Order: sequence, then structure tokens, then C-alpha cells
Amino acid sequence: MKRGLVIGLIVGAGLAVTQAQQPTPAKPNVAEIEKVKDNLYMITGAGGGGNTAAFITANGVVLVDTKNPNWGQAILDKVKTVTSKPVTHIINTHTHGDHVGSNEFFPASVEIVAHENTGANMAKMTNFADASKRFALPDKTFKDKMTVLNGADAIDLYYFGRGHTNGDIFVVFRGLRTVHAGDIFARKGTPLLDMNNGGSGVLIGETLAKAAAGIRNVDTVITGHSTVMTWADLQEVGEFNRAFLAAVQAAIKTGKTADQALADLKLPEKFSAYQMTGAKDNVPKIYAELGK
Ligand SMILES: [Zn+2]
Repeated sequence: MKRGLVIGLIVGAGLAVTQAQQPTPAKPNVAEIEKVKDNLYMITGAGGGGNTAAFITANGVVLVDTKNPNWGQAILDKVKTVTSKPVTHIINTHTHGDHVGSNEFFPASVEIVAHENTGANMAKMTNFADASKRFALPDKTFKDKMTVLNGADAIDLYYFGRGHTNGDIFVVFRGLRTVHAGDIFARKGTPLLDMNNGGSGVLIGETLAKAAAGIRNVDTVITGHSTVMTWADLQEVGEFNRAFLAAVQAAIKTGKTADQALADLKLPEKFSAYQMTGAKDNVPKIYAELGK
């Protein structure tokens, strides 16, 4: 046997052993927690999906959104660093898997609340298709407005219309002047318009305007995927979406194709720092919505 062949066989045998072993379990997901206001925290985590809010009430913890699947323990571990109270409620801002993915980690006794359209959208998700997962769907839904808990713990839920999906809600921690806005305000930039779940590039700016006018006494905004921002930022994101729509409508008026509209797209200077990565998707979506 030649030396090279022997070495080859040994290496080969080593590989075979390695491959036969069970795949090493993925590293556990680890979240991070930051204080937003007294009794209100934002829980984040690389790869975890949307921002989770944890609100400590008299009798327990209300979570807003539960990230991707397999993040429940990471969320709970962070909650336990600030309170020993149990999770009593989950509020889902909208249907996406990176916001409702770990609902199922929490016991069936936890009350789950969402907009009625989100309830319908979630019921169609593969995450909840198995009968054993149905408990992780919303227990309570609403149409326009609903209040969860009361007094200092009161949380006002508002729905103002279609945007990122057809079920985006604004979750207002009334006593703390803070809202979790979900993905209708994911970040300063072009929104994802989920047409399969009733999203609308024509209406998103209007919906944000209605929220800005209809919600009072809020100064702090937990965004869907970015940092904590201000009420003025939420107003500005509404303006951005209206300016985006106006630019597309102007392009349609002058007979431009969607490609030309995208190439010529120019928004006011104040939005120069906005992420525009979604423009290539949103311009044709708005064209299609307007029947062009
Ligand atoms: Zn989303």
C-alpha cells in the first residue's frame, strides 16, 4: 500500500465517523433586554426577528410579539432577569412568523390578543396547522379598538387600516406614553408590503396619518425591527410613505412605466437617510394596486 493511499483511508475513515455522529445541536438562541420605561422593556436578539416588548403589570407580564420559532426560552430568560411574575398575555402586532413564531412556547393559559384580520391570517399559517398548535392562535380579537387590563396597567390596542398587512395594530402602554408599532413602522425605510396578507402601499401612509392623529399622549415608539424611536419619527414615517405614494402617482400620471418610475424616484431631502432597498418591490406593487 502506498503511503498516500494509507493517509487517504485514515482521513476517509475519520470523516465517516464524524458524519455518522448526530448533528451538533444549534447554539441556543440568546436575547438581549433593554429598559424603555419603568416596567417596560424591549427584548431583541440577532436572528430572532421582530422586537418583543415586555410590560410588567400588577399580576404578570404582557409580551408584545414573540419573535421567530424557538425564541420563547430566550425571551423568558430575559424576562426573568427583571421580574419573577409569570407571562399572562401575548399581544401580536400582526401575522408574520418573526412576530408570532414563539407563541407556542408559552402555556395555553396565556391569553393571546390580535386584530381580527391577524387572527384570520394566523389561522392559515403552517405554524399553527397542526391541531396541537391551535392553542397558540389568538384567543381574543377586535376590530377597531380594545383595551387590555386597566388602571396603570391599561394597554390600548388600535387599528387604523391596512399597511404592512391588513391587521397591523398599535399597542399603547397608556400610562407610559409608549407604543409598540410593529412592522407598519419596522424601521426608517421602505416598508415590506405583504400583499398576500392584505398589505397596501396605497393606504399605508394614510393609516399612519390616522394613527398619528388618533393616538394621544405618546412620546416613545418601539419599532418592529429597529431601535426605540420618538412619536415625531412615527409621524415622519407616515409622511415618507405618503411622499413615496405621491411620487409613484406622479410617475403614472406622466405615463412612465414602473421601471421608469423607479429609476426616476426622488423623495424630499429630509428622507435621504431612509433605507430604500424595498423601492424596487414597492413601486410595481403600487402600480398593480392602482391597476396600472
Ligand atoms: Zn412583518
